[in-house]
Amino acid sequence: MPGKKAVRPRDDGSRKGTRTKRGYPKFKKYQVRASVEYKTSGWKLSEDRRYLTLTDKFEVGTFKLWGSRNLHYYQLKQIKRVRIIRRHDGYYAQFLIDHIREEKKELTGKQTGLDVGLNHFYTDSEGNQVDNPRFFRKDERQIKKLQKRLSGTKKGSKNRIKARNRLGREGAGAEPASAHRAPSHLKVSRRRNDWACKEAQHVIESNDLVAIENLKVRNMVKNHHLAKSINDAAWYKFREWLEYFGSIYGIPVIAVEPFNTSQNCSNCGKKVSKTLSTRTHKCPHCGYEADRDENAAINILQSALKQLSTTPGRGESNISGETGLCLDGETQTDKPTRRKRKSG
Ligand SMILES: [Zn+2]
Repeated sequence: MPGKKAVRPRDDGSRKGTRTKRGYPKFKKYQVRASVEYKTSGWKLSEDRRYLTLTDKFEVGTFKLWGSRNLHYYQLKQIKRVRIIRRHDGYYAQFLIDHIREEKKELTGKQTGLDVGLNHFYTDSEGNQVDNPRFFRKDERQIKKLQKRLSGTKKGSKNRIKARNRLGREGAGAEPASAHRAPSHLKVSRRRNDWACKEAQHVIESNDLVAIENLKVRNMVKNHHLAKSINDAAWYKFREWLEYFGSIYGIPVIAVEPFNTSQNCSNCGKKVSKTLSTRTHKCPHCGYEADRDENAAINILQSALKQLSTTPGRGESNISGETGLCLDGETQTDKPTRRKRKSG
C-alpha cells in the first residue's frame, strides 16, 4: 500500500514461550491475510526501535523488526495505528504514521496522457512506450503450474493446504477476488508493486500534469484471463502510485472515462472505428496517422484538460494538486486523501 509503512517482523524465538489465552486476538489456524489492529495502546517499541512487543499477550509476542524504512525518523506519538498482518511467509507490522510528505519539484513544462494496454504497459501522448516487464510472463507460467497442482489435490487434504500456501507464496496474478481463490501471491505482487512504484515516480517527476484512463478495478479483478489479470493488477498499483506521488509533488493526476479514447481521431475528433488488431490509427477525414495507442493517449490528455476547464470551481485547486482529482465517485473512495498519506 502506498503511504503505509511496512516493516517485516522476524520471529526471534520469543514466540515459543508466549501463551495464548482466550479473549486475546488470535489468528485462525489456516486463515491467511488475517490482521489485528492496535491504536495507540497494546503495543510497545523497544528503545532502539528494533523490537515491537504486543503488550496484550497477543499470540506472536515480540517481533524483531526489519524493513527498509527507519522508525527513528518519527516520534512515537506520530504512530497512530499498528496493524499486525499474517501472510503466508510470516507476520508483518504496518505502522500508520501521521506525517505529511511533500517534495519540491521543478516544473518541466510537460503534460502527458497515458494509455495502458496489453501490447505495452503504457504508451504516452508523445508516442513513448514502456513495455511490460518480462517477469509478467514468467509469473504467468509459474502461476499456471501451481494452479494445476492445486486443482489436483483433494479438498480439505494436507496437500491442498500445502499447495495453496505455495501458490500464495510463490505468486499469482491479480489480487484474489474471494477467499476460495488462491490467496496472497506475495513474491509476485511485491515485485510488481516495486516496479509500478518506480515507473509512476518517473512519470510524475517528468511531467506537470498526468492524465490516465479511469479503469474500473471491480471489472478487472473479475476477469479470468491470467495475462490480463496480471496486467490489470499492475495498472491498478501503477495508478495508486501515480496518485500518491502526484500528491507528494503537487502534480495533478486526472482520471478520465475511457469513452472512445481509442476510436476517436485525436486530430479532428471524428470517430474512426477500428478493431483491437488495428495497430495504426489512420483518419479518413483529416489524414492524421499515428500509432493506435499514441492516438488514444492524446485523447486521454485532451479529455483531462477539457475536464479541468469545464469543472466549475475546481480548476484552480486541481492545478495545484491539493484536492482529489478523480471526479469519479468510485475511485474517490479508495483514494486516500493527502492528509492521511504517510511516509512512503
Ligand atoms: Zn481525423
